[in-house]
Amino acid sequence: MLGWMIPPPKKSAKTKEQFEIERKKKVEQLRREGILRSEALIRAMLKVPREEFAPEDHRDYAYRGSSYVDEIPLPIPGENATVSCPHAYPLFYEALEIREGDKFLEIGTGSGYGAALAREVVGSRGKVVTVEIDEAAYGFGKGNLERLGYTDIITMLGDGSLGYEEEAPYDRISITAACREFPHELFEQLKANGKMIAPMGTSRFQELVLLEKISQADIRTKFLGSVLFVPLRGKYSPAY
Ligand code: SAH
Repeated sequence: MLGWMIPPPKKSAKTKEQFEIERKKKVEQLRREGILRSEALIRAMLKVPREEFAPEDHRDYAYRGSSYVDEIPLPIPGENATVSCPHAYPLFYEALEIREGDKFLEIGTGSGYGAALAREVVGSRGKVVTVEIDEAAYGFGKGNLERLGYTDIITMLGDGSLGYEEEAPYDRISITAACREFPHELFEQLKANGKMIAPMGTSRFQELVLLEKISQADIRTKFLGSVLFVPLRGKYSPAY
């Protein structure tokens, strides 16, 4: 994988208060950079403790980076699984325009951090479903969510590119690994006027793409710049 320098593991030495200060600074930085804008997401990012979603030996790096370009994803249990960089969440969620009451589907639970943020935004009138293909990452993400009290998020183990029919249709779908095209199963599970976002391309070069489903026959796509995510596994795995 090109791109990231992951710092070495070390025992966590930071206190809860230090993490809180760092979390506030991170939110200020993302606002200043114009990546984080909506009130509901600002509140969610101030509330959800990102450090609790990192493994103990990488916890102190949870808010690393004084600008979005020096942020890093953190390794978590599972093949190629990570907690994405902090700016990735507002990058995806602001473009998706997640609202209170939305039914939200995430592909790639990873640490569970993205699912927790989405749950804060959609609130108790909404619903979050998240699917993870890797058993180790699934156990880690589900454990984090439960420990932090996010017990009404539906967590599923399987190929998320096939969606989760039982809870369909969804208002918003976020694919957090790189795919070669939008999975048509997910398109079918998206409501009219729904939005879906994914990094798209090869395992080494991707564009972030937003799809708006005006109706079954009227689709709009927007290219939002280049990004680097781990490749999606399963049916829609990207070309290498
Ligand atoms: N959203 C996560 C980060 C995702 S990293 C977070 O907030 O921490 C990408 C994740 O996608 C990895 O955990 C990887 O195992 C998972 N993944 C890859 N292919 C998948 C697929 N087809 N279905 C579900 N999850 C998949």
